[in-house]
Amino acid sequence: MSATKAIAEDLTATFTGWASTGSLPLKKFSYHPRPLGPQDVEVEITHCGICGSDVHTMTSGWGELSGPCITGHEIVGTVVEAGPESLRKVGELVGIGAIVDACGECKDCKEGFDQLCHKSTYTYNSTYHASGAKSYGGYADRVRVNSQYAHKIPSEISAAEAAPLLCAGVTTYTPLKHFGAGPGKRVGVMGIGGLGHLGIQWAAALKADEVVAISTSDNKREEAKKLGATKFVNSRNEEERKAARHSLDILLLTSNDKNTNWAELIEYVANHGTLVLLALPEIATIAVPPSSLLMRHVSIAGSLVGGWKITQEMLEFAAKTGVRPWIEKMPMSDANAAINHMMEGRPRYRIVMETEAAARLQKH
Ligand SMILES: [Zn+2]
Ligand SMILES: [Zn+2]
Repeated sequence: MSATKAIAEDLTATFTGWASTGSLPLKKFSYHPRPLGPQDVEVEITHCGICGSDVHTMTSGWGELSGPCITGHEIVGTVVEAGPESLRKVGELVGIGAIVDACGECKDCKEGFDQLCHKSTYTYNSTYHASGAKSYGGYADRVRVNSQYAHKIPSEISAAEAAPLLCAGVTTYTPLKHFGAGPGKRVGVMGIGGLGHLGIQWAAALKADEVVAISTSDNKREEAKKLGATKFVNSRNEEERKAARHSLDILLLTSNDKNTNWAELIEYVANHGTLVLLALPEIATIAVPPSSLLMRHVSIAGSLVGGWKITQEMLEFAAKTGVRPWIEKMPMSDANAAINHMMEGRPRYRIVMETEAAARLQKH
């Protein structure tokens, strides 16, 4: 890293996107990106998925914004400029997730948990440690990032389908790998939505003994089976809930519902099993019955997206196994309509916004 502080803005370039200043609707906003560093790439964005985190951020659900914020961290596009030390070349199709920078030297970075690095930079609403530049996300025409975080998209995966893998995909894949999902393990996924529909597919592709989809209604019973679930539990059906009691070695909680009943949820987890929280509810604390932790050796864990290494592994695993998000495409020029669609909870299961540059893609 250079000893001198880099200039935070490149005044010769202007990127334009859809920004929030803490409430909706999103408004058109232009900014000067950070200067293109030797390891950086500039990406012309073709697609960007809408993640629940985007909505929490743009509506100030997780706190006030410091200024206009372009959200979006399920970004896919073509490299149009590359620094001399870049890992990616001009013309390559790349994907950018929720993290765009980390120190690369600390214990977390060395162990592949760069998302936990104390110097990590989130793709939007965050600051680069070295330069002080603000980070802006993918509801835009272009973005500049360190090429380490511009992941090569395998040719088997379409550009549009790659987008949700960059956050929803890696968010569900990482904890399943971390907690050993595979033969001999029974995996549950609570909530069948943008995250859950991928969690079910991963667990099936990893060959878990059982893949149990849990939902609050029967609506998704058939879809869950199509996604690879071996069993479906309607959590409002007492019989089904009782039958699934203490049966899961790993349970992913994908919902960020403030009213989650933790006592009820923990009842699904087997002795020595782990309940993993993947989405951040807009509340400060959760209420957990201590008896299940002590008397049944149940663990409660959290998991935040994934580092660059596991992101690349996840993309290659998806290419090989055929795991794909179910998406609805909408034009980015109508970003506010897409956000409304997302907030009404209608998508099956992930919205991907498409820019005009998508028409210029040769393959994918
Ligand atoms: Zn996300
Ligand atoms: Zn680090």
